[in-house]
Amino acid sequence: MGLKFEVGATAQSGGRRAALHLPHGSVETPVFMPVGTAATVKAVQQETLERIGTDGAGAEIILANTYHLYLRPGHELVRRAGGVHRFMSWRRPMLTDSGGFQVFSLSKLRKVTDDGVEFRSHLDGSKHFFSPEHSMEVQIALGADVMMAFDECVETPATWQRTRDSMALTHAWAARSKAYFEAHRHEVPWTAVPNTSDKSALLDDRTQCLFGIVQGGMYADLRRESAERIVEMGFNGYAIGGLAVGEPREITREMIARTLEILPKDKPRYVMGVGYPDEIEQYARMGVDMMDCVLPTRAARHGLLFRRALPGERQDEGELTDQENTAASGATPSAIRMNIKRVEYAEDQRPIDPACVCPVCQRYTRAYLRHLFVSKEPLAATLNSIHNLAFYLDTMQRVRSSLAE
Ligand SMILES: [Zn+2]
Repeated sequence: MGLKFEVGATAQSGGRRAALHLPHGSVETPVFMPVGTAATVKAVQQETLERIGTDGAGAEIILANTYHLYLRPGHELVRRAGGVHRFMSWRRPMLTDSGGFQVFSLSKLRKVTDDGVEFRSHLDGSKHFFSPEHSMEVQIALGADVMMAFDECVETPATWQRTRDSMALTHAWAARSKAYFEAHRHEVPWTAVPNTSDKSALLDDRTQCLFGIVQGGMYADLRRESAERIVEMGFNGYAIGGLAVGEPREITREMIARTLEILPKDKPRYVMGVGYPDEIEQYARMGVDMMDCVLPTRAARHGLLFRRALPGERQDEGELTDQENTAASGATPSAIRMNIKRVEYAEDQRPIDPACVCPVCQRYTRAYLRHLFVSKEPLAATLNSIHNLAFYLDTMQRVRSSLAE
């Protein structure tokens, strides 16, 4: 199969260091994956992504969204370009989601049946249908190293019975996703492309791999049942979906902990769509290997920057979200949020984070970044995104180093 996972040191807490070998290269885990929604990590060019972070290693894997690329420019166009790697000139590993989350969160007039989901495009209102088979067909055309099974994302809050019915549909769709993938995996557009990765010799074949998704909402018994069913089916890796959708952070942590107990230790474990810097650190220390989130780039475009906390420093409570347990914020957080548009930064000649070695902190002041942001200059989005991504990659680098000890 097109994946090899080598687990190294494992801490008492369950956190582990590992290497994930994929057709387009290797990834050191635990890893944070920047989100490149429409085959671009918004406002940041590929050559920058390849270099950010203290060690200069850059992002080793990024995500692209199936729903967005299917609607525009269309998966057949991407297939003809040789797959999403060649289309966007990204030679390193990539992962595509199944499109399910966006179908359920962005599109209008959804109609869900056992067969799939009918929905209208958020772009032009046109009618589309996604089934597990169609999601696989689109993801094979896109050709990311890792594909995701098609799942239903239940609304929050949902009753136990509603969540259980949705979970059963996700399980049926997982089995259909796997069957279609196994029959069609040879259709990936790049199998004939010469490989440049040294590590690909470790792989039995250079095809894509498929991860299953555990659902079950905010119910520990359903999470357990879902994990058991999905593991029985046998996937290359396992994701925990449907979290960080507005529930208190303590519940997110609890659902992850209950699910990790069931997932096999020799396979990669991925929590989708989390989170703030202190969350990704916490989950990595619990044994999560992969995470992704739009937060560092989306927050950057809204002027929200992350920096390391000074000893004893507290987060200004005005920057905390409703989901956060303010009782727990008495401790020094690992990351402080700064709203760069505040007037207090107008003549602040320091970098965002004096401890950060990213190209933005090496060169520009808070005063200049505030000016760019309040003047709505496009460079603000680029510089803010580069720093926040560097902060996230450095956070994971620090966790990997401490797990190795
Ligand atoms: Zn920086």
